[in-house]
Amino acid sequence: MLGARRFRGPIDLHTHSSVSDGTETPSQLVRAAAAAGLGTVALTDHDSTAGWAEAGVAARTAGLTLIPGMEFSTRVGFSSVHLLAYLFDPSNAGIVAETARVRQARLVRAEQMVERIGVDYALTWEDVLAQTTPDATVGRPHIADALVARGFALTRSEAFAGILHWEAGYYQPHYAPDPLRAITLVRAAGGVPVIAHPATRGAVDVIPEAKLARLAEAGLFGLELEHRENRPEAKAHLYALAEKYGLFVTGSSDYHGEGKPNRLGENTTTPEVLERIIGQGTGSPPVYG
Ligand code: AMP
Ligand code: FE
Ligand code: FE
Ligand code: ZN
Repeated sequence: MLGARRFRGPIDLHTHSSVSDGTETPSQLVRAAAAAGLGTVALTDHDSTAGWAEAGVAARTAGLTLIPGMEFSTRVGFSSVHLLAYLFDPSNAGIVAETARVRQARLVRAEQMVERIGVDYALTWEDVLAQTTPDATVGRPHIADALVARGFALTRSEAFAGILHWEAGYYQPHYAPDPLRAITLVRAAGGVPVIAHPATRGAVDVIPEAKLARLAEAGLFGLELEHRENRPEAKAHLYALAEKYGLFVTGSSDYHGEGKPNRLGENTTTPEVLERIIGQGTGSPPVYG
């Protein structure tokens, strides 16, 4: 018999703040989550845990549960695969070293992309820096915001569909570990790893069944199948594989504030699955507000 649950629903396990590419500070994000009627929210900035402390204070004030998390950039060949990680120890040496390496690689890569774009458009690195907060994990969304500020695109999404699309010729990948290594690091830090939006374009081919089986064996907890970017056919296939390999299914919004159309709570995770995540996460406790 499980004890009484200390968290409330609805549960949204994937959101971004200005510590990475969301448009709201961690406290604004937590307040928005409370206003949207959520009982539990996870903060999962790209490759950074810098927002946890501020979000924790805000969660206590707002009276909702915060699950500290991160979206770890990983890579299989030329394709990027995102790994959500929950309740790990943010001071774990392996995690600290690897995320620092990824953030630095993202910075160099963004500068290279801006240099290439600058040949055809009047865009400078200073324009991009003006769109980021100090120490933020820099990504294409910040380049998109700079393009919007300069009038070369109307919205982030338009910039992504045009100048920032890999087909446009300015795209550059960045260093990221293999998901197997990231899963091992997250588990070693007491965390719980879930592959984010695994049924988006190409991702099913990027992680074929044999690879998924190895990731499950290495400690993968689940797949984020309820996410607006998962394609329906691929999603059905992955539901079957989740069942076969004993993986749990999560759902979430991937909210980025005004940076993306995704709305808080548009997809949610069941209390039973969150209970298991909390049961396995030993590196950091949830903040019960
Ligand atoms: P990067 O990791 O730097 O290559 O940039 C990819 C990030 O951009 C993803 O994490 C998404 O959150 C974000 N992104 C992708 N497409 C869009 C879009 N159409 N509008 C806004 N943000 C997007
Ligand atoms: Fe993002
Ligand atoms: Fe992602
Ligand atoms: Zn995300």
